[in-house]
Amino acid sequence: MKYPKIQNYINGAFVDASSGRSLPVISPVDGNLLSEVPMSTAKDLDAAVKAAKKAFPAWSKTPIKERVQVFFRYKYLLEKNLKELAELVQEENGKTYGEAVAEIEKSIELTEFATSLPQLVTGEVLEVSKGVECRTEHVALGVVASIVPFNFPSMVPNWTLPNAIALGNCMIIKPSEKVPLSCGRLALLLKEAGLPDGVFNIVNGDSEIVTAICDHPGIEAISFVGSTKVAKIVYQRATSNYKRCLALGGAKNHLMVLPDAIPAMTAQNVAASMSGCAGQRCMAASAMVGVGNIDHIIDKICEEAKKIVPGENLGAVISKESKERIEGYITEAEKQGAKILVDGRNAKVKGKENGTYVGPTVIDYVKPEMSVAKEEIFGPVISIMRTKTVDEALAIENANPYGNAASVFTQNGGMARYIIDRASAGMIGVNVGVPVPREPFSFGGWNESKFGVGDITGKSSIEFWTKLKKSTTKWNPEAGINWMS
Ligand code: NAD
Repeated sequence: MKYPKIQNYINGAFVDASSGRSLPVISPVDGNLLSEVPMSTAKDLDAAVKAAKKAFPAWSKTPIKERVQVFFRYKYLLEKNLKELAELVQEENGKTYGEAVAEIEKSIELTEFATSLPQLVTGEVLEVSKGVECRTEHVALGVVASIVPFNFPSMVPNWTLPNAIALGNCMIIKPSEKVPLSCGRLALLLKEAGLPDGVFNIVNGDSEIVTAICDHPGIEAISFVGSTKVAKIVYQRATSNYKRCLALGGAKNHLMVLPDAIPAMTAQNVAASMSGCAGQRCMAASAMVGVGNIDHIIDKICEEAKKIVPGENLGAVISKESKERIEGYITEAEKQGAKILVDGRNAKVKGKENGTYVGPTVIDYVKPEMSVAKEEIFGPVISIMRTKTVDEALAIENANPYGNAASVFTQNGGMARYIIDRASAGMIGVNVGVPVPREPFSFGGWNESKFGVGDITGKSSIEFWTKLKKSTTKWNPEAGINWMS
C-alpha cells in the first residue's frame, strides 16, 4: 500500500473513523493498491458537525474581506503545489497528467472567483419612504455539506468549498470513496493558508454517511454532484428533512453537426470532447447527430480518434467494473446493428496490464432507441445518429431526459441561434465541444442533470450558500408614522 490508511479530518486534525469497515483505493493507472478508505458512521459525522458548529460563530463573524485572505493564500498554495497535486489526481483517478494539471488549474480559477466575492455580496440599501431604509445582507447558513463524485477529485470539491467557506459557512465534505486522497491534501493546504480549525472537515465513506448527512439536523444545506440516480435519492432525502439542496446529476450530451461545419476543427473537437478524461466528464460529448451528408466529417473524426492512444494521451477509466460496463455498451450496439468504426474494446497498455483502459470508440448508424444513444456511458465512446433535418436532430436531443450540455457545429449563425433557442440543456456550445462556462459564469444543467434551484458555481452560488437578511430601519422620530413606515 503506497499511502497510509486514510483518516477523516475533523477540527483541524486527522482522526480515525469509528467503524472498522474500509474499502481499498485502487489506482486505475496500473491496478496498484494506493490506500484504504474508512467507511465512517453517523457518530463520525456528528463529531464533524460539532466541530463545524463550534467554529461557525467566529468564522461567520469574521468580515468577508478577511475571510477571503485565506483563499488568496490557498490559491497561491494550489499554484505552488500544482505538480504534486496533479500527480495525486492522476494516480487516484487515472486521467492523464495533462488533464490532471488542467483540473488543478480549474481549481485555481474557482478559488480566484471566491476571492472576488466581497465585490459581489455588497447587499443593497434604499430609502423606501421618508426616513425609512431597507437593507439586504447575505448571511451564512451555518454548517453545510458537499458530497462529490470520483471524476474530478480536486475540481468538484473546489466548486463548492471556496465559495461556501468564503461566504461564512463551515463545511463538511464527503469525498468519493474511489478517489479520497486529493481532498485530504486540500485540507492541509487550507490549514497552511490559515483556515481556522473546524471550518473545513472531511468525513469519508459511502452511502451510509451520505444518508447520515441528509438526516443530520445540524446541517443546513447540501450540495451533491454525481449520478442522476443518487442525485434524486439525496435531493429527496435532504429536502424531506427541510434542508436546502442542490443536486447535480448525470448527463447525455448531444453534439449536432451540420454539413457546413469546418471538417478538421469539428473532428478535433468531437474527438477531444468524447475522449477527454476518458469520457468521464459530465460535459463529455456522448451522442452526435449528423444532419445531412457529413460522411467526410465522420471520416475525419475516425482519423482523430485513432490518434488517441490509451496510456499515452488517453487515461484509464475508474475501475474494472466501469471498463466492463462501457465495453458491454459497445458490444450491445454492435449486436443491434450499429457499425463500430473505431473500436476501443480490449485496450491494453504495456507495463500497466492491470490498469483499466478503454480505447476511443466511434459507433455509427446508431438508432435513437438503442442504449448507447440514450444512456450515460461515461467512457470514451461517441454514438453517431443521422437525420435529414435540424428539427429531427433537435427532437432527438430534446427527447433525452438529461440536459447538461449540447453543442452545434456550423458556420451559419442563424442556425446556431435556432439551436441555442431549442436545445433542452443548461449549457450550449457553438463550435465548442465542451461548453463549460468559465468563471464568473455559473455551471449547471437542466432536467435530470440538476435538481434544485440555481447553479453550483459563479454568482449563482451566492444565493445557494447564503440567506438574505432584510432590515427596515428608521432613526428619525420627527418623520412621523404612516402605514408604510
Ligand atoms: P455516484 O452517484 O455513484 O457517487 C457520487 C457520490 O454519491 C459519491 O460520493 C458516492 O459515495 C455517493 N453515493 C454513491 N451511491 C450512493 C447511494 N446509493 N446513496 C447515497 N450516496 C451514494 O457518481 P460517481 O460515479 O462518483 O460520478 C459519476 C457521475 O457523476 C456521472 O453520472 C457524472 O455525469 C456525474 N457528474 C455530474 C456532474 C454535473 O455537473 N452534473 C459533474 C461531475 C460528475
